[in-house]
Amino acid sequence: MLLPTFEFHEPLSIKDALKLKKSLGEDAKLLAGGTDLLVHLKKKLITTNNLISLSGIKALSLITKEKNAVIIGSCTTMTQLSSTPIIQKNFPALKAGCDNLGTHLIRNRATIGGNACNASPAGDTLPALLIYDALALLETSDKKREIPMADFFTGPGKSCIQPDEILTGFRLPIPGKNSGAHYIQLGKRKSSEINLVNVAAFLKYDPDTKKIIDARIALGSVAATPIRSPKAESTLMGQTPEEACFFAAGEMARREDCHPIDDFRGSARYRQAMVGVLTKRTLTRAYELARSACI
Ligand SMILES: Cc1cc2nc3c(=O)[nH]c(=O)nc-3n(C[C@H](O)[C@H](O)[C@H](O)COP(=O)(O)OP(=O)(O)OC[C@H]3O[C@@H](n4cnc5c(N)ncnc54)[C@H](O)[C@@H]3O)c2cc1C
Repeated sequence: MLLPTFEFHEPLSIKDALKLKKSLGEDAKLLAGGTDLLVHLKKKLITTNNLISLSGIKALSLITKEKNAVIIGSCTTMTQLSSTPIIQKNFPALKAGCDNLGTHLIRNRATIGGNACNASPAGDTLPALLIYDALALLETSDKKREIPMADFFTGPGKSCIQPDEILTGFRLPIPGKNSGAHYIQLGKRKSSEINLVNVAAFLKYDPDTKKIIDARIALGSVAATPIRSPKAESTLMGQTPEEACFFAAGEMARREDCHPIDDFRGSARYRQAMVGVLTKRTLTRAYELARSACI
């Protein structure tokens, strides 16, 4: 299978990339790591006369700290994210998502922006972006906007990005003390497999009252897009963190918040059952991490 022919553009700044995107319009695709796009082009699932590579734009591959947040450039690779201390320390569920994605070779190319724009319901970094309340940073040649990741996905393979927009990065608030988060994925094989179910959970715990003061759960592969699990989250608020309450949240996520389908990888029933199990497990681990941060 050969790649079709196209014009290759390699801008060195966001401004130049936006100018190109504006002038070429729908007849140009943005290329980050290419691990989705080049496969789609080879399989002729999409066609284009122009590829605009983002790899030469250094500003898109930076991870920077603001006062209470971390800005992750959209072209940051999985390998880069996973090996950056500020991500390891503050965003363990995101690191776990990066570590689970594909193989070493894929992780060296695949970017977090590409994972989001590909908008697979099973994307490995997407539940973490949801539980960390990440904002997507979008830019055209004349305006910028910030969209909560909860509003970013509009369907399988679809997002709210407009044709003249580039995703420049994500803003993630730093979770702070007494919080913990975890991510678990389940596939038929251990790696290079599309997830059957993937779950991320975030918990914040008040060491004085011994109650949960913030809970966020995100589910992948069990709806048309990655989703938050609002009913499960609300069962946790104000509760004493213990096995029974994590089990109840898992049951709520399983019964009320997910809408899986049957496919050749697994049945809807199995996926639904696994939502309950994995939600309880991620919450238990998130709480262990939150508690160890209190000690
Ligand atoms: C063998 C293999 C294994 C894989 N395993 C996994 C896995 O386990 N888990 C998983 O989640 N994924 C997996 N993938 C899918 C893929 O690697 C990821 O989705 C990856 O993060 C895509 O990033 P990329 O930089 O390669 O994106 P690209 O392929 O460059 O782009 C993907 C899409 O996003 C658009 N885009 C990219 N960057 C921007 C931007 N800044 N602004 C606007 N649009 C943009 C492109 O135009 C394109 O439509 C796998 C792929 C392969 C080939």
